[in-house]
Amino acid sequence: MIPFNKPFIIGKELQYIEEAVKSGKISGDGIFTKKCQEFFEKNYDFQKVLLTTSCTDALEMAAILCDIKPGDEVIVPSYTFVSSANAFALRGAKIVFVDSCGNNPNIDVNEISKHITSKTRVIVPVHYAGVSCDMEGIMKLANEFGIFVVEDAAQAIDSYYTFFDGTKKALGSIGHFAAFSFHETKNIIAGEGGMLVINDSRYNERAEIIREKGTNRSAFFRGEVNKYGWVDIGSSFLPSELISAFLYAQLENLKAIQSKRLSIWNKYYDELKYLQELGCIQLPVQPVYATNNAHMFYILCRSYEERSALISDLKAKDIYPVFHYLSLNKSEFYLKNNEEINIPNSDRYTDCLLRLPFYYALDKDNQDQVIKAIYAFYKIIN
Ligand SMILES: *Cc1c(COP(=O)(O)O)cnc(C)c1O
Repeated sequence: MIPFNKPFIIGKELQYIEEAVKSGKISGDGIFTKKCQEFFEKNYDFQKVLLTTSCTDALEMAAILCDIKPGDEVIVPSYTFVSSANAFALRGAKIVFVDSCGNNPNIDVNEISKHITSKTRVIVPVHYAGVSCDMEGIMKLANEFGIFVVEDAAQAIDSYYTFFDGTKKALGSIGHFAAFSFHETKNIIAGEGGMLVINDSRYNERAEIIREKGTNRSAFFRGEVNKYGWVDIGSSFLPSELISAFLYAQLENLKAIQSKRLSIWNKYYDELKYLQELGCIQLPVQPVYATNNAHMFYILCRSYEERSALISDLKAKDIYPVFHYLSLNKSEFYLKNNEEINIPNSDRYTDCLLRLPFYYALDKDNQDQVIKAIYAFYKIIN
């Protein structure tokens, strides 16, 4: 059987978990949490990093930091995971869904500008498949209208955006805040886990407080205050050292993980290109300003029916590709309180996008089987 995803261990994950237990501290903010946070601050030029229990939680923290109040508007692509919208809905925001680009699932900047009003407080670019959104365009709009940018960088570890002037910046370092995920389906995993990136130092202190149940406990442990107490709203957003220990071992092997994933990605691309030339499928399009972090390999089928048939065909061969998001503007929750709106590109990705099996341990034979099965479905000999 070839599953869609398989969690993996590559280095000292188990050894570090044991070390954490033996150190006598497995609650949050111990040695491994600090090592992980420093790794990101150093390697990706993130102003400040706080590990969290998930990307969803990091997004919820960002919504609190942006001081979202009922009635504020937040611009989110319709083609995304629920958390990108839900984190702001929890604070009473009105979610304004906009469409994706025609040639890739990222949010379309021209559509964003049509939806900005005096109530718009946040734009949430989601770097789909780790491919950067048009960050220069988005930051320009945000600066012009005084809007926060919260990057949903759940899939975007080790990926970059190149500005017109040639400057290259890591995704997650460009918006005011960014949220990453270490869920077992991402490139770097810890089971469940995430992190919040804070790129404006004015929010550092409040971010720590929100993460520590609304207390100034972090400042207390640094000796900056002589007692700690309840100073703001917050929740329990910090992961246990067991999670951070696992994560740190993965980070030590980030280069090896990325280069293996890239070779899997390139093999899919090179070997499926012929089917694209024949017009059977479409392959991912990489904008010139974006790098490829090999988070995911997807194809676009010509129709929903064809995608369903392809999924059944592959399943019969014990291969398990999966489709992805369902346009959030068509979700039960959204339609309870809102009128139907038309978001065509998002609907096309909802109906036609198919993610192929992709994980660190996917070997060449298995990948050959997947590719062969797709060719067989289209009755093409390669
Ligand atoms: C995975 C993912 C999330 C959620 O991450 P968790 O760590 O599971 O909360 C949010 N947004 C996007 C785009 C994702 O891919």
